[in-house]
Amino acid sequence: MPITPTDKIWMNGEMVDWDRAQVHVLTHGLHYGSGVFEGIRAYATDDGPAIFRLSDHIARMFDSARILGMELPYSHAELVDACKQVVAVNGLPSCYLRPIAYLGYGEMGLNTLPCSVDVAIACWPWGAYLGDDAVTKGVRMKVSSWTRHDHNTMPPAAKTTGNYVNSSLAKVEALNAGYDEAIMLAPNGLVAECSGENIFVARRGRLLTPPLSAGALEGITQSTVMRIADDLGFTTVVDNVARSDLYVAEEIFVCGTAAEVSSVNSVDDRPIPCPGPMTTAIAERYQEVVSGRVDGYEDWCERPV
Ligand code: PMP
Repeated sequence: MPITPTDKIWMNGEMVDWDRAQVHVLTHGLHYGSGVFEGIRAYATDDGPAIFRLSDHIARMFDSARILGMELPYSHAELVDACKQVVAVNGLPSCYLRPIAYLGYGEMGLNTLPCSVDVAIACWPWGAYLGDDAVTKGVRMKVSSWTRHDHNTMPPAAKTTGNYVNSSLAKVEALNAGYDEAIMLAPNGLVAECSGENIFVARRGRLLTPPLSAGALEGITQSTVMRIADDLGFTTVVDNVARSDLYVAEEIFVCGTAAEVSSVNSVDDRPIPCPGPMTTAIAERYQEVVSGRVDGYEDWCERPV
């Protein structure tokens, strides 16, 4: 999806003009995938923009950095504040935010210990990742021929820039074959997640979603959905999902910050009932929650400065 430029990007503590937010071609992160990042959305609410679960996203960025052994040169509070400033200074009613920390310019080679850590935060307007009618019409999924890397190869629990080569291989394979999105299996053959979303699979009236141990990122939308489902009286279970669970599912949806809640209409050309009743109810409530219209969820709608 093309990026729409905005005014300012936060870079290492300063607001810089969009066009000047550049890095040197010998930046370590460009060569070795040595970075961690987040994807966050700010939504329009009656009281102006609210950044959904900002503190939780920044906490996950710190976890990703810890897994990599990378020390971020700012505190959690400083990065939360910087995200709020970026949204405020660009004056957007709603947007997508991309904080990234990466090993910088000055050192080359695989010893990352002497490398500097740079941090940047950009935001821009971004529409529905899997299309505007992804909830009602659903998306076509393909089980990827690419395997999600295992925990001792590239830790899938860390949102590391280099990890996403694996996701891109799967995404492009699915698109080239005429599908919308890829489902990734772990090395043991169990379902992990999608190239950029977690997955929920309805079986016998319950919603199953694979755990971190199956190679899934611990999605912030995944946990939001579990709370919403509970409010709505649906049972969710974090448990292993086999490939055949997909083919006989009563309904399937995928979820993530970018994709929000999107229904699935088929997996490997086997039709899935779509949009399912649980998917529809959860997708609708999700939009109300992120727009600050549901009591009890106010703490997750974080206001910019
Ligand atoms: N899995 C992967 C591989 C992702 O890239 C994302 C998007 N960050 C997700 C799951 C969903 O995570 P979240 O709901 O926190 O955006």
